[in-house]
Amino acid sequence: MAPSAHPRPAAPEEHQAAARLPAPRPGIDGLQAYIGGESEAVANPRLGRPIRLASNEGALGMSPAAAAAYAAAGETLHRYPDGSAGALREAIAAVHRLDADRIVCGAGSDELIALLARAYAGPGDEVVHSAHGFLMYALAARGAGATAVSVPERRLTADVDAILAAVGPRTRLVFLANPNNPTGSLLAPEAVARLATALPDGVLLVVDAAYAEYLDDRDYEDGARLVAETGRVVMLRTFSKVFGLAALRLGWAYCPAAVADVLNRVRGPFNVTAAAQAAGVAAIADRDFVARARMHNAEWRAWTADGLSRLGLLVHPSAGNFVLVDFAGLAGADAASRAEAARLALKADGILVRQMGAYGLPGALRVSIGTAEEMVAVVDAFAAVLDRQA
Ligand SMILES: *Cc1c(COP(=O)(O)O)cnc(C)c1O
Repeated sequence: MAPSAHPRPAAPEEHQAAARLPAPRPGIDGLQAYIGGESEAVANPRLGRPIRLASNEGALGMSPAAAAAYAAAGETLHRYPDGSAGALREAIAAVHRLDADRIVCGAGSDELIALLARAYAGPGDEVVHSAHGFLMYALAARGAGATAVSVPERRLTADVDAILAAVGPRTRLVFLANPNNPTGSLLAPEAVARLATALPDGVLLVVDAAYAEYLDDRDYEDGARLVAETGRVVMLRTFSKVFGLAALRLGWAYCPAAVADVLNRVRGPFNVTAAAQAAGVAAIADRDFVARARMHNAEWRAWTADGLSRLGLLVHPSAGNFVLVDFAGLAGADAASRAEAARLALKADGILVRQMGAYGLPGALRVSIGTAEEMVAVVDAFAAVLDRQA
């Protein structure tokens, strides 16, 4: 082809006029964007593909019924979704025996975390979270202009008394992930109930149960019961983990009626896509898939924890689909530099795990539970790395 006679148009950044813009709301200027798990990777030589264990995605992929429902939704992309996500809320309500009117769906539970922060907290207000809690809580609080208050933990577990002591007249929201990501720690049902009951009026407790399906129902409090019993609890759930639908962005909240009403007014009218709603209805009905995923996770989480412990690494007990692996127990150079060196060596070997500096745990790595062959490969890779570090 002949070269064009026209000069190449300027790139947008060369082009930008210097207009004076409105300042963003308080809190936004200092905000760091959430950094997700890495996804670019080279192929692992043994498996011939990358091994992605940095984002706690479902090890077994997704339910075939959900994939089929998603494909079918592709036939009618010209139609707006059901703005109330009615069929999905009814399906969730039937499985969990909840009131569908008090379920609000979101584009991932991340959207619901942000909406709760924006709806209930602003400049001058405080949002309380535990020190190694899920990062989005502090980011959502700051994005709303509120102050995020980090509460020290005890042995990497949320401390109910310390949280209650941190709650003051400016507190609007308390976020608690149970189990917590990235530590994997779990609070007993009595502890969650005690927190919910002891909070003063005017404070909402958000129990984020993103990993609920990985637990046995016995001896686990996901927060649903406390929504009705206390009137000041919101439970969050997601389709991104055990259901394996992270790409679709789908989560839900179970709320007191007044909170559901607020969320329904502040959310976008079509915040959940039609494809996500259709896949969600199919996924939640596929109880066999969830049961298989739970059993796979229990088996390979134990196997992985055992294998990594034998290498001298400290593996924290986890109730989720991941383990937090601590280099602090090892002798030699400092834990943070050994953890980072290990992460980079694994990455060069086509294995992605999550660095934990942003969570205040620079000497640890978080490893998601993947397939059997992935976990065998990752334990072998850690062994090789530690051999070289020794
Ligand atoms: C993964 C995760 C979420 C985010 O879920 P999405 O529905 O994908 O936004 C929320 N809370 C915790 C604790 C998580 O680990």
